[in-house]
Amino acid sequence: MAMRRSRRAVAARRRKRRLDAVEHDLSGDQWAALREAWGGCAYCGATDRPLQRDCVLPLSRGGRYTLDNIAPACGPCNASKCNDEVTGWLRRKRYDERAFLERHAAIRALLAPPAPPSHGVA
Ligand SMILES: [Zn+2]
Repeated sequence: MAMRRSRRAVAARRRKRRLDAVEHDLSGDQWAALREAWGGCAYCGATDRPLQRDCVLPLSRGGRYTLDNIAPACGPCNASKCNDEVTGWLRRKRYDERAFLERHAAIRALLAPPAPPSHGVA
């Protein structure tokens, strides 16, 4: 396997590496714990569909692929929510926005290790 390096590609490579790192922040164990804590789709509650990793705050809006920003979503919910802001989307779908946010906060507190104070992302 040849590794070709070019100075011109360094910036692009660095950018890609950063994105790759973000994408793999969630470990398999964390994902399993999340699915167990939610017990189904975080949004519609479906338990009979395969669950996908959904970013509560979409990556395109500054969200990260981390334990406290991932919720299990069924295919239809994941596809429908896409890059939408979560609370607006929940309201449009007439899902229980308040129940979701409270459950999400509770599960975050349960699973996420105490994090140093962060800025910017609320
Ligand atoms: Zn769903």
